[in-house]
Amino acid sequence: MSESNRSPENATFEQIGEVLRSHHSFVLLSHIRPDGDAIGSQLALGFALMAMGKSVRLINEDGLPENMAFLSGSERIELPPAVPLDVEVAIALDTATKPRLGDAALHAASNAGIWLNIDHHVSNPKYGDLNLIDSTSPATGQILYDLITRLDLPLPAESRDAIYVAVSTDTGSFQYPSTTAKTYEMAADLVRRGLDVGTINSQTYDENPYRRLELMRALLNTLERTPDGLVAHWTMRDQSRIDLALRPEDSEGLIDVIRAIRGVQVAVFFEELPDGKIRVSMRSKDRRYDVCQIATEFGGGGHALAAGIRMPGPIEEAKTRVLKAIHRRFDAAKPSPLS
Ligand code: 5GP
Ligand code: MN
Repeated sequence: MSESNRSPENATFEQIGEVLRSHHSFVLLSHIRPDGDAIGSQLALGFALMAMGKSVRLINEDGLPENMAFLSGSERIELPPAVPLDVEVAIALDTATKPRLGDAALHAASNAGIWLNIDHHVSNPKYGDLNLIDSTSPATGQILYDLITRLDLPLPAESRDAIYVAVSTDTGSFQYPSTTAKTYEMAADLVRRGLDVGTINSQTYDENPYRRLELMRALLNTLERTPDGLVAHWTMRDQSRIDLALRPEDSEGLIDVIRAIRGVQVAVFFEELPDGKIRVSMRSKDRRYDVCQIATEFGGGGHALAAGIRMPGPIEEAKTRVLKAIHRRFDAAKPSPLS
């Protein structure tokens, strides 16, 4: 569909349901360096569609991260094939901007005639033909739970477990303020449907590879706090990736350690990528310090309390620029400094 035909408004669940019911072949995509919500969302909707008898491919630019391989059905997540897939519908999940799907994944989906865009990022520009963007939802997995249950689609065990992991990982284990009564009600319903809470939480959180702790040790050696105590940051050089044989997902979630420091309002993780670009990951404790706004200044995006950027190096320059931008916002918001 052309740019001008794209609706800036959200589609209704029924309109999305009509596309799902009336087509046969689908490719489901999520963002590069996929996290629990990205993979969980692909499995959740993917297995619901498979249970409806649809032909479904689950493609991710970076494939399945090792820490999500415990999810049943996760072996269905594939790297993008070189030749475009013969599919009618492409569905982007949990992906704030279309380029974040990755070049190879976009090429694989390039024959699709209809694009659905289902996401919870406030910065999502609604790049689909039909869009379902709910920035009040703590995870894309929760939007899919609403969609599947409201449309009365099948919810097989793979989808049930994937939704739980998607929402758990995107809410810091049901802790962030985006977690609502609806989220707990959803979790209760998933447990009633047979989800094994103890096992799934243990698989999600108690299976860290040792190298992840070695990375944490290296990061702690770089920890800094601004003199006012409001910003804590640490830095990962690409050399750590080589020395510790790290996988991209090994750094996922570590930023919560510095976010949890008393007095800190914003935590920042600077990571040097193999291509020389810098990945900046930011977390805020308070909506007055909206890290999505800061990320947007540098072409990134995300949510008010969790956002990210990919920007040019070198790393020292990126750090200076981002920390300055954060302090410009702080000056405007006038936070009370740590005494
Ligand atoms: P994380 O810090 O966990 O990588 O990302 C936090 C949030 O910001 C996620 O919701 C993620 O989708 C978003 N985000 C991270 N990096 C980028 C980026 O480079 N561009 C955009 N638009 N969003 C990002
Ligand atoms: Mn998400």
